[in-house]
Amino acid sequence: MARVLADHCDLYNAALQERREAWRMQRVSVSYGQQSAQLREIRAADPGGQGRHSFTAQQQTLRRLNTVFAAYFQRVRDAEHDRQRARSNGEKPKERRVGYPRFKPSQRFDQVLFVAGDGAKWEPADDGRWAHASFQAVGRVKVRQHRAVVGRVKTLQLKREHRRWYVIVVTDAEAVPLPPTGRSVGVDVGVARFLTTSDGHIVANPRFLDAAHEAIADLQRRKQRTRPGSGNRRRIRRRLARQWRKVRNKRRDFHHKTARALVDTCDTLALEALRVDAMTASASGTRDQPGRNVAQKAGLNRSILDVGWAQFTSILTAKAESAGRRVVRVNPSHTSVTCHTCGTRCTRPRQDTVVCPTHGMLDADLNGARNIATRAGLGSGQAPAA
Ligand SMILES: [Zn+2]
Repeated sequence: MARVLADHCDLYNAALQERREAWRMQRVSVSYGQQSAQLREIRAADPGGQGRHSFTAQQQTLRRLNTVFAAYFQRVRDAEHDRQRARSNGEKPKERRVGYPRFKPSQRFDQVLFVAGDGAKWEPADDGRWAHASFQAVGRVKVRQHRAVVGRVKTLQLKREHRRWYVIVVTDAEAVPLPPTGRSVGVDVGVARFLTTSDGHIVANPRFLDAAHEAIADLQRRKQRTRPGSGNRRRIRRRLARQWRKVRNKRRDFHHKTARALVDTCDTLALEALRVDAMTASASGTRDQPGRNVAQKAGLNRSILDVGWAQFTSILTAKAESAGRRVVRVNPSHTSVTCHTCGTRCTRPRQDTVVCPTHGMLDADLNGARNIATRAGLGSGQAPAA
């Protein structure tokens, strides 16, 4: 498996090299199609190396590089667009360098995607036994299956994470609609609480993150006291990786359970269209112009990341889709500080409370959830009177 990753890494870097040289010497860009067309020749010339591997998996690796380049060209266009806008506003354009895609060191190249039925095969676990995955140039390996694989298997991703290996199985599954429930809510995701629904349900932030962060901060301090390259440092780094893995797994599990409960009990879910990356980037500012509230916002940003909003919404959306439920995204501006009853702008004396001149103190998150429900056209989103 290590050999598969290493050979795919070579292929990736060689393809990157070709694109670089072609651009540097002749100003031409090389497409995925052109690189893919060379695969047959590359394989024939290297039967003991590249020739051993799955052809379609190699195509996936070339596609991955193509995606990296597409994102790079997009960043170049965005930077140019920003410069033009600054000039037309009479401002001095900001110096912004867009990094060219880089070579990947083989220890950082950690995944290969296989097309099921073409160089890879999945055999599910039957009652308590091991599942098996077979990969071209590797053979059949035992896999501990974490949950049932539903639907037609499309791809198998072979992935290395430190010293562990994973197989990620992607399937095409038919949506199985759940029976209607008559409940439709707005959902506000916050920092103090994980989420609040417009009909008053509250899901608290999981406590395990606090404990885990103390352990991680402690290990990070200890790592800093060790000598670079020492065995001690390596051991601590491994323990750090293990801690992070535990946090990630627990958090993902928490997201799955919370999303499951919402999808099972609601016909329509309204959410804010939030961009977490924008929220976290703004506090730190740029290197030349550090954000004014860096220290103050660092804690808040960490909390936002902890909440893992992006991961949660993607899990929630996927579950909703496969259950035939509806998810509505609404404009997020001022949802918590607009009084839900009269629409007046409220003051916010504390993070968790807003005050309407007419309706008095309101729970900021609940008020936000009700505004989200209204904006999604769900009426008030509150529970009907009994
Ligand atoms: Zn009011």
